[in-house]
Amino acid sequence: MSHDRTPITVTLPEGVRCAIALTYDTDMAAGYAPDGICHGRTMPQLKDYMLRLCATAEEHCVRLHFFQICNGLEPTEDVGYLREIIDRGHDLDSHTYSHQPLNIDDLDVLDFELRRANELLAERLGHTSTVLRGPGGYAGGLRGHAANQRVILDNGFRWVSCEYNFRVTPASYMEAISGPAQEVCYAYNSGLVELPIMSLTDRNFFDSLMCVDRAACDAWRQELGHRALPDGRAKAPWTREDALERWIEYNLATAEFACEHRLLWVAAWHPYTHLVHDPHNRTLPALLEWASERDDVVVCTLRDAAQWLEPA
Ligand SMILES: [Zn+2]
Repeated sequence: MSHDRTPITVTLPEGVRCAIALTYDTDMAAGYAPDGICHGRTMPQLKDYMLRLCATAEEHCVRLHFFQICNGLEPTEDVGYLREIIDRGHDLDSHTYSHQPLNIDDLDVLDFELRRANELLAERLGHTSTVLRGPGGYAGGLRGHAANQRVILDNGFRWVSCEYNFRVTPASYMEAISGPAQEVCYAYNSGLVELPIMSLTDRNFFDSLMCVDRAACDAWRQELGHRALPDGRAKAPWTREDALERWIEYNLATAEFACEHRLLWVAAWHPYTHLVHDPHNRTLPALLEWASERDDVVVCTLRDAAQWLEPA
């Protein structure tokens, strides 16, 4: 207990060998922004892409899980796409109000970030968030941040997903396929439960590991960042040529590993990153087709996964 990390057993449903919790953080990411600001005011083209992801999932009887930055739910903003996502049976939860890290020192800021997001979800969508995705991801999660854990619990969350530990290089990233065996779920001393991000994020993969031309990325960001991308656009100009093939290969290998070792795998992706790097939506169908060929593999949401954890 003193380490703020009590392991929790994941009990998958009867007959399920492996569960893949597919989550998408709906950021207009700062790394793509001309002004360097990350926010939740989703551009129309990205709303369409999110609904396309939902349609792909529905073809496979799968529900997706979106974590929304809730400043995109202010009264001036259109939330019809989020209402549609909920109505179509997918899960939606909080990614804070304005993408502040959960391990922030100022607890008043943290409380505002969570409370205002909850208010907007209730007012605009009649929706209650129960699982919280932490912006950015932190090595060690919230261990040693007891007061932050308390603020999160007091805002109605029992589950948080914010730990992210991967430190890989372009030469070593395939070693990260064993993440689901190492980044396991646990309870903090406060009783808050952590479901870590268990594989490389798409942002980390495409925009760091596969980046071979930082100047091209900077130029793209100034010209096209947070703006509608032209139809028929070529691949993002800063990644190596085969980045998307490698991303799909990495994720299928992680799925194989999780299946072999009978694990829960929590993946954290971003619709915007996939719009930029996978405009024709190849990754999600590839993973869902892999899963649908195996009748003991389920693709689920993080809310589903939370139900399979022993109570802390
Ligand atoms: Zn985020």
